[in-house]
Amino acid sequence: MKKIYFGTNLKMYKNIQQTVDYLKTLANETAELDRKRYELFVIPSYTALPGATESISQEQVILGAQNMAWEEEGQFTGEVSPKMLEELGINLVMIGHSERRHIFHETDDEENKKVICGVKNGFIVLLCIGETDKDKMDGVSNEVLRSQLIRGLKGIKKEDAGKIWIAYEPVWAIGVNGKPASEEYANAKHKVIRECLLEIFGNYGEDVPILYGGSVNPQNANSLIVQPYIDGLFVGRSAWNAKEFAQLIFNTI
Ligand code: PEP
Repeated sequence: MKKIYFGTNLKMYKNIQQTVDYLKTLANETAELDRKRYELFVIPSYTALPGATESISQEQVILGAQNMAWEEEGQFTGEVSPKMLEELGINLVMIGHSERRHIFHETDDEENKKVICGVKNGFIVLLCIGETDKDKMDGVSNEVLRSQLIRGLKGIKKEDAGKIWIAYEPVWAIGVNGKPASEEYANAKHKVIRECLLEIFGNYGEDVPILYGGSVNPQNANSLIVQPYIDGLFVGRSAWNAKEFAQLIFNTI
């Protein structure tokens, strides 16, 4: 049976103590969740990661980093290397979140270097992709998604497909001004993504979970998760209260 994924990115919210409190509450509230069937992950800020790893077991909640350098060390002021994350006990890294791409102008080629470095260093890499509102209006969403995948995953061997997770997050659906994608729309895009992964990785493309993100909330979570091509939910605002996130999960499964 395929696993179902639930996760959140805490962005630049929550200090160390707030993150620790959040994680402890989430771990308690989800104690009954069968971890063999459901994968639960949280991506706190860098500064909260040491406190986070000490406060809970990653058998309860997997912890990830919001970004990572594409080199292991060197003259890269302000960057955090895979070795530094590994030292903290982190082995999940998110690459290419919409805010990295659109506020910090990261390119597919840069995301690709990070993906390669992440896989080489044994991380699970959560690669985020998604079309803008303009792409959608121009009718090029599928091409954009395919291009982000093909360029972002260039050079990754099919045997390493199991180390890749994809988050499909349409840019127009994310954040306070976003509108969630309908379940039909999201499912159709997940199908495009799955077909592209099969082209890239052959049958190994089936090993890559595809999560939907963008204004997931307690009202739409269930209708999204039952879609055949949706393997999990990547939740923002609706997950930042640990009790509410746990409730969303239990009401969804
Ligand atoms: C996000 O920013 O990745 C996200 C999914 O946020 P939200 O759920 O708040 O739209």
